[in-house]
Amino acid sequence: MLQSELIAVRSAVRQLVESFGAAEYYQDQVDQGDHCDQLWNAMGDNGYLGVHLPVEYGGGGLGLTELAAVVEETAFAGCPLLALLFSAGVTGTVLERSGSQEQRERWLPGLATGRTRLSFAITEPEAGSNAHRIATTAVRIGDRYVLNGQKVFITGMESADWVMVVAALADSGLSVFLVDTSAPGLTWTPIRTVMNQPDRSHQVFFDDVEVPADHLVGSEGGGLKVAFTGLNTERILTSSICTGVGRYAVQHAVDYAKQRKVWDQPIGAHQAVAHPLAAAHMRIEAARAITDRACAGYDAGGEVGELANMAKYLGAAAGLEALDAAVNTLGGNGVTYDYRLAPYYWLVRMLNMGPVSKEMILNFVAERSLGLPRSY
Ligand SMILES: Cc1cc2nc3c(=O)[nH]c(=O)nc-3n(C[C@H](O)[C@H](O)[C@H](O)COP(=O)(O)OP(=O)(O)OC[C@H]3O[C@@H](n4cnc5c(N)ncnc54)[C@H](O)[C@@H]3O)c2cc1C
Repeated sequence: MLQSELIAVRSAVRQLVESFGAAEYYQDQVDQGDHCDQLWNAMGDNGYLGVHLPVEYGGGGLGLTELAAVVEETAFAGCPLLALLFSAGVTGTVLERSGSQEQRERWLPGLATGRTRLSFAITEPEAGSNAHRIATTAVRIGDRYVLNGQKVFITGMESADWVMVVAALADSGLSVFLVDTSAPGLTWTPIRTVMNQPDRSHQVFFDDVEVPADHLVGSEGGGLKVAFTGLNTERILTSSICTGVGRYAVQHAVDYAKQRKVWDQPIGAHQAVAHPLAAAHMRIEAARAITDRACAGYDAGGEVGELANMAKYLGAAAGLEALDAAVNTLGGNGVTYDYRLAPYYWLVRMLNMGPVSKEMILNFVAERSLGLPRSY
C-alpha cells in the first residue's frame, strides 16, 4: 500500500472510532461489562479486522503494516482493543500461515468480518514464561485428540467461539489445536484484574475435552514453530497498541498543558512539564520506526524474531513513559476517570510484562543479538 493510502486508512479508522464516541464509548463499554461489539463489527464490515488476510478468505490482501496501523489508530483514538492482537492478529496469522486449506476456508472469513472470535491459550500457571514446561496434554485416540490441563490469563474467552490452544502431545511435543468453546469439559472462570479494558482474562480448565483430529493446526509436535508465526505478530502489534495509547496520552497532555494556568503562563511553558512530554514523543517515534521495520520485514517474508522483540520492548516502554508524563502533566486530574488517562495505565503496564516480559526480551537480545551466555 502506498504511504498516502496508509495515511488515509489511519484517518478513516480514527474517524470510525470517533463516530462511536472514542474514549467515552470505551469507558462506557468497560463500565457496562460490554465488549465494544458494535465498534468491532463495524471494523469488520469496513475490512479492518482482516486487512492482513488473503482476499480469497474475505481479507484485504494487505499485510501486517496495515493491521499495525489499524491497531495503533484505534488506540490513539482512545479504544485500545486487545482482541485485535489475540484474535485478528495471532490466531488469524497462525491460521493463514500454518492452517490447512480447509481450516483457512472455515475460520478466516469469520475472523475477517469479526463475527468469529478466537482466544489464544499458551500461558499456564506452572510454566509461565517457559513454554517448554507446558503441562496441558493432548492424547490421540482414534479420530480425536483428548485435552487435559489448565491455562491461565486467557483473554476474551467470554466472547470467543473458539480457542487456539498450545498443548503437549504425547510422544510428539507441543502442538496447536482449535477447540470449540462449547466443547464438553471446557470451562473457565474470570480473574479479577485492574486492567480497565473490555476483554476479561480467565483461568481455563480442560477436562477430557475432545477435539476432532482435523482441528490440529500444522503438524504434530510443530506447535512452537506454528505458534511463533502468531507470537511474533502479537509482539509487533503490542508495540502498536502501546504507541497508540502513548500518542493519545501525549496529545491529551499537550492540549491540557496549553490551557492550564496556575501562574501567569500555561503550565506547558515550564520545561519541567514540557520536557518529559517531548522525551516521550521522541521515544514513541523511535519505537514506531522500529515497529515499521518489523512490519516491513514480516510482510517481506523475512525472519523477524529480533525486530519483533525489540519493537515490543520499545513500544511498550514508550507507551508507559508517555502515560506517566501525561498523568503528571494533569496533576490531580491525571488520576480521575473523567480525564481519561489513568484508566489506560494498567493496560500498558501489563503489556510491558505480557505477552512476553521485558526481561525475557532482554534475555533474547543479550543472547541472540549480542552473543552473551544464557543464564537459565
Ligand atoms: C491481563 C493479561 C492478559 C493475558 N492474556 C493472555 C492470553 O490471552 N493468552 C495467554 O496465553 N496468556 C495471556 N497472558 C499471560 C502473559 O502472557 C503472561 O503473564 C506472561 O507471559 C508472563 O508469564 P507469568 O505471568 O507466568 O510470569 P513468570 O513467567 O512467572 O515471570 C514473572 C517475572 O519473572 C521474570 N522472569 C521469569 N523468567 C526469567 C528469566 N529467565 N530471566 C529474567 N527474568 C525472568 C519475568 O520477566 C517476570 O517479570 C495474559 C496476562 C495478563 C496479565
